[in-house]
Amino acid sequence: MRVLIVEDEARLAGNIAQVLKESASLAADISTDGVDGLHMAKTNPYDLIILDLTLPGMDGLDILSELRAMDIAVPVLILTARNTRSDIITGLNRGGDDYLTKPFDMGELVARCKALIRRSYGQPHPVLEVGKLKVDTVARGVIFDNKDVRLTAMEYRTLEYLAMRAGQIVSKEELLDHLYDFNWERFSNVTEVYISTLRRKLDPDRSFDPIETVRGQGYRLKDS
Ligand code: CA
Repeated sequence: MRVLIVEDEARLAGNIAQVLKESASLAADISTDGVDGLHMAKTNPYDLIILDLTLPGMDGLDILSELRAMDIAVPVLILTARNTRSDIITGLNRGGDDYLTKPFDMGELVARCKALIRRSYGQPHPVLEVGKLKVDTVARGVIFDNKDVRLTAMEYRTLEYLAMRAGQIVSKEELLDHLYDFNWERFSNVTEVYISTLRRKLDPDRSFDPIETVRGQGYRLKDS
């Protein structure tokens, strides 16, 4: 999952990105300017936008209105020092999905981000169950066929995405778009490498083969 942080306090934005990466396995891009932030939001398929309101270039509420006018459905969490009841109501009524006021608790921000992403993928339960696979998106633990599976951060990120989209075909391009931020070099075969490691770790003797290759289209996590 990949998040855009539009926040002009560069240090705060950097902290948020780091925490999202380390404690929630989320890829994160940062924009410190309103105009640039809107451009990034329009041109990349983010899974969530954390949006400050008072920004150089363009106000966050105008960014939000423009995204919604373009039918861009990405969940938006407004993160701002504007904290009156009427600010909050306005933010939500302009198309925001959640609203958190500064100063805020980082753990609360992360939990809200994860809840918004889950909901947008139609997954109400924090533990994703797909056939013999269980992906605990809170503890970031994985169980397959009743056995614990140890994954690296990027392996987990890849599997969580497939589990969110269980039963559907996910192309390599979609994986690259949703799992990597701009700081990563995107090698064309990087997804193949992670998928093959996941197959080996989940199901060493290949008796279930939970990740199906759909020739010419991508991968599908089998839900039965
Ligand atoms: Ca600001």
